[in-house]
Amino acid sequence: MAAAGALARPVTALPRVGRRQGERLARLGIHRVADLLFHLPLRYEDRTRVVPIAELRPGEARLVEGRVLQSSVVPGRRRRLVCRLADATGSLELVFFHFYAAWQRRLQAGTRVRAFGEARPGMAGMQLVHPEWEVVDGDAPEPVAEGLTPVYPATEGLTQPTLRRLVGEALSLGEHELPELLGEHIRRPLGLPDLHGALAVIHHPPPDVAVESLTEGRHPAVRRLVFEELLAHRLSLLRLRHAHRQALPAPVLRGDGRLAGALRERLPFRLTAAQERVLDEVLGDLGQDRAMLRLVQGDVGSGKTVVAALAALAAVEADWQAAVMAPTELLAEQHLRAFREWLAPLGVTVDHFSGRLSGARRREALARLASGGTRVAVGTHALFQPEVAFTRLGLAVIDEQHRFGVHQRLALRDKGADGAVQPHQLIMTATPIPRTLAMTAYADLDVSVIDALPPGRQPVTTVAIPAARRDEVIERVRAACAQGRQAYWVCTLVEESEALEAQAAEERARHLQEALPDLRVGLVHGRLGGADKEAVMRAFEDGELEVLVATTVIEVGVDVPNASLMIIENPERLGLAQLHQLRGRVGRGTAASSCVLLYHGPLSETARARLGVLRESNDGFRIAERDLAIRGPGELLGTRQTGAMEYRIADLARDRDLLDDVRHEAGRLFHDEPETVAALIERWVGEGERYAQA
Ligand code: ADP
Ligand code: MG
Repeated sequence: MAAAGALARPVTALPRVGRRQGERLARLGIHRVADLLFHLPLRYEDRTRVVPIAELRPGEARLVEGRVLQSSVVPGRRRRLVCRLADATGSLELVFFHFYAAWQRRLQAGTRVRAFGEARPGMAGMQLVHPEWEVVDGDAPEPVAEGLTPVYPATEGLTQPTLRRLVGEALSLGEHELPELLGEHIRRPLGLPDLHGALAVIHHPPPDVAVESLTEGRHPAVRRLVFEELLAHRLSLLRLRHAHRQALPAPVLRGDGRLAGALRERLPFRLTAAQERVLDEVLGDLGQDRAMLRLVQGDVGSGKTVVAALAALAAVEADWQAAVMAPTELLAEQHLRAFREWLAPLGVTVDHFSGRLSGARRREALARLASGGTRVAVGTHALFQPEVAFTRLGLAVIDEQHRFGVHQRLALRDKGADGAVQPHQLIMTATPIPRTLAMTAYADLDVSVIDALPPGRQPVTTVAIPAARRDEVIERVRAACAQGRQAYWVCTLVEESEALEAQAAEERARHLQEALPDLRVGLVHGRLGGADKEAVMRAFEDGELEVLVATTVIEVGVDVPNASLMIIENPERLGLAQLHQLRGRVGRGTAASSCVLLYHGPLSETARARLGVLRESNDGFRIAERDLAIRGPGELLGTRQTGAMEYRIADLARDRDLLDDVRHEAGRLFHDEPETVAALIERWVGEGERYAQA
């Protein structure tokens, strides 16, 4: 809200709202008076007219009026007060399991009563169980409600009448205090109403409004609020990014290409056109003195690592350091191997920073880094630790960024040399984010896409097989390994318990070893120590194990081209993006590969649809778009990503058709109307943005 004024005050500033009530409202996300305005009804009740009893339909909440024929307390296991009410068209029962003795007297025969409740079929015609009711005095008709009655999301101790009263008070304050932030020129082309009109319709709809269009978010009044909210969030990210860029200059990383050229000569392959294009975009950014913030999206196996290595060499050539950060130790170790293999022969020192490193080795590594001897540092978030001091950090590569939050990304900027410059950031992810979502989730980043796989890759054939046919699947494993191939067997569990998951994997490994006595079966899970895990992974890589039973720890990054078969147990428990990632562990060589989704039937309709998407497509972007349509954005982006991005009213899946207009309008406003921008962010993001900057 506008910074001053009654709407900006805490709700407890309203009459009859004390500390307790304030706490309850806070549970609903209502802190300031203005928040009440954006607390939208879940549904509406129609008390605008009295309905003839004969017209009642089961399940409908309606207002009826009639004369009491008879009231009596019916004894029994559930003692109840039953009151028969009749109008000119028929009669029904009002039923109360909880009642005061006085009610029976007030509801005596002949009294005129008006009642509101949901009709249910009973033993003797319709019933209203625990209706709201009142005695109607005299002959003059009592007034009915003028508009539909909103029913708000509530919480224990907060009743609907209280919420209605509070929202009403906020609305009357809003009449004077709530500025319109979207001018005619924005609203008219989009067919959106003004703010006061929209709020009035939402909180007090006229009786003839199409109620579903309001509750389902299709009504222009709701779309108007959604648009404003999306716009505000987009602007807030634009502002964050702008501030980030302005804060400090970045070093110009323009090398002579000597090291990069040497690496290209040593590589056993040529970069694909897609890799070259993305690398060009990255190198273009690195040559500027404004910090790069670029996200490289590329499906699993598209070859992001070598692009990162060439970018790191640009930093080294310009006499700066590069950091490569991975979300897990396993992945960090894998990067370490790749980077050492590629860069060490060029005389570039690559060092490892892990949480496990300790004692003298850690001190040495830190000293080498601080003296500038280390040119490329590879590690996990251990690289964020304050003792890890770079002399000249010019580029930070962050792999699989969906595991890091916006905050960590921003924390990196302090790792630059003496706080005089900030490093460029290259973020790589294999989680394809549909373009629609990328706009909101990554508004602070530029995006490059490696949209083709290296030549010679075979698409992975995917089949879904019920667990009852497990023996057949074990037979497939035997056949594949007989041809010199290797197989992954991935165990997943319902509960997020590493211990249980590890246990299930152990059992599966034992069982497979019994069924396949001639094969060597290995096991990795999250409870193994890092060194043990690495030893097993290496044995699998070296072909000393034919079958690797694993929990989802292998999800990211492992690269064993000879593995051509993957079994995923209980695939219905994982997101499509995660399944696609897992499946990307096979099909990395030239052999035809397959993936077996071993499910425990029967599958729900949704689960069936989702697994079907995987069977049909090997394209991570297509899969992500479909997953978004089936499941919605929260699950797709993961809680960490959406945590900073909570919408009150907007729903990215439902409202995605607005996103293009939002982006367009945000870009224009950001340049042309700084005051509107500030007011929009204040109204919708408020504290959230300050938190994101901390
Ligand atoms: P991701 O994008 O999933 O991180 P990687 O960088 O791990 O993929 O690359 C997968 C495999 O493909 C690696 O073995 C890598 O050396 C290889 N690779 C990368 N680029 C090419 C290319 N242009 N041609 C052939 N193989 C490539
Ligand atoms: Mg990778």
